[in-house]
Amino acid sequence: MTTVAAAAAAPRSLLDLTFVELEREFVVAGLSPLHARVLWRAFHHGLSQEFSGAPNFLPPLRRWLAEQVGEGRRFFIGAPTETADTASSDGLTRKFLLQLADGQTIETVVMGFKGRHTACLSTQAGCAMGCVFCATGQMGFVRHLRPGEIVAQVRHAQRALRDAGSSGLRNLVLMGMGEPLHNYDAVMTALETISDRRGLNIGPSKITISTVGVVPGILRLAAEQRPYHLAVSLHGATEAERAALVPASRRWPLAELMAACRTYFALTGRRIFFEWTLIAGANDSPAQAGRLATLLKGLDAHVNLIPLNPTGGFAGTATPSAAAKTFQQVLQAAGIPSTIRQRRGIDVAAGCGQLRAEKSRANGLVPAA
Ligand code: SAH
Ligand code: SF4
Repeated sequence: MTTVAAAAAAPRSLLDLTFVELEREFVVAGLSPLHARVLWRAFHHGLSQEFSGAPNFLPPLRRWLAEQVGEGRRFFIGAPTETADTASSDGLTRKFLLQLADGQTIETVVMGFKGRHTACLSTQAGCAMGCVFCATGQMGFVRHLRPGEIVAQVRHAQRALRDAGSSGLRNLVLMGMGEPLHNYDAVMTALETISDRRGLNIGPSKITISTVGVVPGILRLAAEQRPYHLAVSLHGATEAERAALVPASRRWPLAELMAACRTYFALTGRRIFFEWTLIAGANDSPAQAGRLATLLKGLDAHVNLIPLNPTGGFAGTATPSAAAKTFQQVLQAAGIPSTIRQRRGIDVAAGCGQLRAEKSRANGLVPAA
């Protein structure tokens, strides 16, 4: 009983609220819902960090903010603190380490050139899935991010681009720290806010959710007709080869995962992206490419081949580019389109979870590898 009362009274970040929830707050307070529109616009479109000086706020909105938002009140703003901002030497990648209210740190990466920028967002602090080659998997699960903590990353990236005189974000990929479909509800709430036309306005067709293969989450995305792109991280085309790299494969076996992908395709008609981290000698032979091609037959599939980013806790190395091209040719011969992704920003530790792992080592929190 006490726990429920305490949880209900716990202050929430304003960023956790969707537009509809914010409107409801004003209606419940006996105020016009139009104030929600003004506040939302300042917050998500204008990227405000605080509201005291906003000239277009009418007295009732100012009063509501004074009464409801701040230390000891129902809401707080919930902007994270930037603890690192690193740029790659090629200037194409910028990586931010953001500290949340409880001290946890997460990574947000902005990649781009010629005014076309993509942000890579985190959805959890750490990850429970334990993929052996992944720096986030190596640190284990800490906690789910709240919707506002996902929204805050987009605001942060937008502000950084605006301050640098660049145009805004075009695309978002949920490929940072964590497994988005293990934090389904918070991710969906955050994406509703992020794609809201009155605010951040990044349309669903510009957003890709990447999953290690959480079968119930894939089926739910399909049943709910969520309008986002789906990327599935495969890395192995037989049960044994995949399970050696992706322990989550034991919970959601490859056959079940592929059946879920087929259901997803049948219900949505959408192309599915498949990610394949290329690791020398582990999953990069022409025979393995052939098995992947067989696995994907009948689906509208596009494969993203990502040469391994080295991490402290895994001894593997990246597939050399000639072998990556051969792998790609086998897919091509089977009619499966693919792209070899560049390892952008390797010098800023731009692989998933790597900057946080590096900073923790520097602070003596984890032993050096
Ligand atoms: N949990 C989700 C999304 C985050 S990981 C997922 O696994 O899909 C995003 C992508 O980065 C995944 O395809 C993952 O396999 C890949 N990845 C993680 N660590 C990597 C590394 N060290 N080198 C190359 N790709 C990596
Ligand atoms: Fe988690 Fe994705 Fe890393 Fe696997 S690759 S441990 S699912 S973040």
